[in-house]
Amino acid sequence: MNQDDPKKCTALKLVRLGLVKKISLRQVSKNALLLNPMSTEIICKTDAKHLNSGLVVIDCSWKEEIGIKFNSNGFIQVDDKMQTNVSNVFAIGDVVGPPWLAHKAYMQGRKLAYHIAKIPANIQIKNIPYAVYTEPEIASVGLTEESALEQKYDIRVGKFQFAANARALTSDDGKGFAKVVVDNSTHKVLGVHIVGKNASELISEGVLGLNIGMKIEDIESSIHPHPTLTEALFEAALVSLDKSVHSFIKKSKSE
Ligand SMILES: Cc1cc2nc3c(=O)[nH]c(=O)nc-3n(C[C@H](O)[C@H](O)[C@H](O)COP(=O)(O)OP(=O)(O)OC[C@H]3O[C@@H](n4cnc5c(N)ncnc54)[C@H](O)[C@@H]3O)c2cc1C
Repeated sequence: MNQDDPKKCTALKLVRLGLVKKISLRQVSKNALLLNPMSTEIICKTDAKHLNSGLVVIDCSWKEEIGIKFNSNGFIQVDDKMQTNVSNVFAIGDVVGPPWLAHKAYMQGRKLAYHIAKIPANIQIKNIPYAVYTEPEIASVGLTEESALEQKYDIRVGKFQFAANARALTSDDGKGFAKVVVDNSTHKVLGVHIVGKNASELISEGVLGLNIGMKIEDIESSIHPHPTLTEALFEAALVSLDKSVHSFIKKSKSE
């Protein structure tokens, strides 16, 4: 196998990772390649000159040919194992619907790869964060205040301005805030929203927290290094519990 060809490298990597045991290629159609996980083969659906390729792709243009079901919005229908209605045909990423994000596609790919390799893994495609790389950055995971109220949650909210965060001020960038949305009855964190410097980096604490069913007291009891931007989320947690000493705003109940 020629390792200079990126497509062939993909195939080689799959073998090296033990995700497929054997790569079997055959010509079926044009311009697409499929992974056959059950027989641990890669089936090549492409023209003869690409027969050695190992890229795993579904070409939507021949959906009728293989009978893949699409939903009413035009996305490939998959189950929680990323399997389509056609046995041994899987799909991940943008083709299976929103959110159209690289990290969601990657996680779905990992989930599928483990499934194919029969490696036990508890990968759930939930609590997908998004980040907007504007100035200031915007990042969010979980329920917003509005969506939590729509879902009839009784919530408490904590919001802390970066204008009162030491690290933001030493960087001369005190724009934005960190905000937590918390279930008032269980104190579980429902959502984390950050606008400000490095929001895309800071959101991961919220993602981890939501994944493990974190309570707001878990943030409160975790020491955040000083001076860092991470303290804004810590302080937002304190605001939601009416325990903040650094915030201008002490109101926690949502209106
Ligand atoms: C301008 C732009 C900016 C973005 N910024 C972000 C961002 O900041 N963060 C983020 O999370 N997401 C971002 N996204 C979205 C992100 O790129 C996609 O959600 C992600 O790439 C989806 O992964 P995928 O594997 O489903 O599809 P893709 O990454 O599009 O991969 C599909 C691959 O299949 C190949 N292909 C298609 N048809 C065939 C065929 N018939 N035969 C062989 N190969 C084929 C394509 O060439 C491509 O390489 C951005 C998207 C765009 C367009």
